Order: sequence, then structure tokens, then C-alpha cells
Amino acid sequence: MKIEYIPHPEEIEIQPKDFIYVNYRKIDNYAVSGYFTFLSTAVGVKVEKIITKRLSYLGNKFKHKLHNMIHSQLIGGCGKYIESLIGLEELCDGCEKCSNIAKTCLEYGPLRLSTLQTMTYSKNYKKLHVTDKLFEDIAEYCISKSKNKEGCFKELDETILSTISCDKLVIWVNESRLHPNEETRNHMHMPREVIDIILRKWNVKSVKLNMIFYTNGGLCSVDWLQYNYFTPVRLNDPYSITEKSSDLKFSHVDVRMSDSIYCVRGFGNHHSEIIVPRGYHNFIPNIRRLFPTDKISIDLSHWFYIAETDIEKKMSTILQVVTMEKQRKLSLSMKFFVKSSIVKKVNEETNKAELRKLAPKYRHRRVNFQSCVRRSLPIDDVDQYLEEFNQEKWIGRRFQVEDIENLFNFNLNVYIKEKELEEGFDKQLLQEYPNSFVGHFYE
Ligand SMILES: [Zn+2]
Ligand SMILES: [Zn+2]
Ligand SMILES: [Zn+2]
Ligand SMILES: [Zn+2]
Repeated sequence: MKIEYIPHPEEIEIQPKDFIYVNYRKIDNYAVSGYFTFLSTAVGVKVEKIITKRLSYLGNKFKHKLHNMIHSQLIGGCGKYIESLIGLEELCDGCEKCSNIAKTCLEYGPLRLSTLQTMTYSKNYKKLHVTDKLFEDIAEYCISKSKNKEGCFKELDETILSTISCDKLVIWVNESRLHPNEETRNHMHMPREVIDIILRKWNVKSVKLNMIFYTNGGLCSVDWLQYNYFTPVRLNDPYSITEKSSDLKFSHVDVRMSDSIYCVRGFGNHHSEIIVPRGYHNFIPNIRRLFPTDKISIDLSHWFYIAETDIEKKMSTILQVVTMEKQRKLSLSMKFFVKSSIVKKVNEETNKAELRKLAPKYRHRRVNFQSCVRRSLPIDDVDQYLEEFNQEKWIGRRFQVEDIENLFNFNLNVYIKEKELEEGFDKQLLQEYPNSFVGHFYE
């Protein structure tokens, strides 16, 4: 079950609205309780997974009410067998009810420090979710409990217990936090030693980075930076200053950018070229230094901001970004969602539509995956909130760049909406441009 609040992408100061989306359907705040009852009694759903998103933007009163309704009506009712609980602490900042669920489920988080401190039991999680804010809170907690660097690291060792283990650590990175003395929103520094000790003591096997624009992480704290005990790291800092982890190794690293704006833009897929780069071309080299791995998969956004112009240039930019540092022994794959308009251009002299070519170095690889279904609310184009999310089928094609000598393989899986492919192209135009990019979608 998914319960979420959807801010408008152009909204700077977010004003709480009087509706949320439950399972992709718009529900007025006053009707939520009735809807939960309906689901658990009339429909009889068995809730195993609850994901709440961006609910910290709700007004305070409704926030608490919703938190309690989720516990009493969903978890206490049809959610007796809850396996995953994600995001709920955003509403309560960590409470006993939530930490009790953490004790029994397989996937939980993002953890607040107070919840982490209740985890003194021994347990293996399938997934644990943490945030950059938690890393900061842990660093500051350890500093506050000690008198010097040595004492601080001893405190850190006692805070992160090896009785807990998790197969996958999901790290939520807020790319739009504010520094108290700066105007620009950015991804803020994280204390490296805190991340490293978590990865080691929890015996993490794979990592997922969840890049997000809208969170109420808000102001970041800078106190810990004044102590020089911890090494500050950011995924968008110049990679040459990031030290490579010597003994850690992960089976793979996944990156989710469905809720990202800045990071996605940094990979070259936004229509606006005027925006200042934010250093995300350092992303892959930094991932390999912090979380050593030979396999990275990245899901670019399919809804907040998707590419609209010039597929040839976008694919070249992406290749340029991912090979900024020469990678050895890396298998990288990326899902890239684009509008169909990206494959055409209008010749200014003849005023006729032309089809763009496949970017240099890529070649089409026939594989049999080739479609996926995604839901989205089209609020980038239309200023309205639909009653229900659109559910759309995307058709994909794989384009590969291979460097055999360096054991580097890059698969860029490009997706276009099935609907747009069916409507968009006349056969004659496709025949006129036999080497077009979009032609591969009709083979
Ligand atoms: Zn709670
Ligand atoms: Zn994975
Ligand atoms: Zn846009
Ligand atoms: Zn082809």
C-alpha cells in the first residue's frame, strides 16, 4: 500500500493540500479513515507493505492523525503480517509504535536515531533504510557524548551494533538541503566514518542510493564539521578527493532517481541546459570509491523531469558523464525514459520533420526484456491533480557501449511510451531515414 503527498514541481514553498494519494488514487484528507476501513473490511486486503512518501509536508494536526490511523487501521487491522514499513517515521520522528514494528518486519526505515537506539536485539533485515540526516545525527550524538576524537569513535562503535545485519542498505540522499549560511540547495556533506562503520558492522551486501528532491530534511547541521573528527563526503564533490574504500566490496549498487531533480538533470536528460551543473558527473566515480562494486544500475526519472529534446545529444552527454573517469571492470546499466519528441527535429529551411540518428559509439543490442509499466501523475505539463495516476506501458530498446580492453560495459536502456510510438510516426518518414534512432523501436 502506498500513501503519498505530491508536491507540484514548481512549488517552492510547499503549501499543504487537503488530499493525499492512497494507492495512486486521490483521497480527501477527511475521507482517509473511511477509505482505510473500506479497504480492510469490504475489500479485505492483506497489507504486507506500507510505503508513505513526502507526508512530512502535511499540516501538523493531520500528520499525527494519519500516523495513528495507519497504525490502528492498517497495521493493527489488515496489516498484521506487515513485512515492510517505509517512510512512516517522517510523521512522528520516531516513536514506540514504529520501533515496535521495526523489531518484527523484514524491511524498515528510514530510521531516526531514536529508533536506531532501540535496535539492541539481534536481527537480519532484508533491507534497512537510512538517510544522510541520520548519519549527521549519529556524528553529532557521538561528539556530544565524548570529550575527544578517540572517545567519539568509541561512542560510535557502541552506537552501531553488529547484532544487526542487513542484506541491502538503502541510503536516502536529499539533494536539496539547505546550509544555514548559504542560499543554494544542494546535497550536503555526510560523515564518511559513520557510513563505513554501518556498512561493516551490519554486514551490508548491496547498496541502494535513493536520490530525492522533496524531503523535509531541510536545514543541515554543520556542528559536526567544526570538529574535524569525521571526513565529509558528498557524491557530487570532485572524485579525486574521495578516498577509495580499501576493504569493502558490494555485489551491486542500485541508484533510484525517480524522485530526483538535480541528479537526473546532471546526467543530461533535462530540457533546460541553462541550469548550473551541480557536480553530478562525479557521481559514478564517487560511488565506486565509497561503495566499491563492479556493477551499478541506475533508474532515471520517468515523471518529474524527463528528456524532451535531441536524443543524439542526450545519449552523447550521458556517455560523456559516465566515462568522465575511465572505468575499469564495470558493468553499468541505466534506464532512460524519454518523450517521443526527442527523436525528431524540424529542419528550419524546409520546415519538414526529420529523424535523429543514434549517437556515435552506441550500438543497438537485441534483448528480450523490452517493456515496463510505470505510474505517474502528469503534473509537469498540466497544472492539475488527476483523480488517479496514469498507468502507462513503456517500450524499451538497449543501446550498448563496450570497451573490451577495460572490461567496461554500458547498457543504456531507452524507454518511450507505447502510446506515443503508436501515434507518432508515419511509415514514410521512417523509410526516408533508415538509420534513425527511433527506427530501432520498429524492428
Ligand atoms: Zn511513529
Ligand atoms: Zn539491488
Ligand atoms: Zn520539464
Ligand atoms: Zn536495431
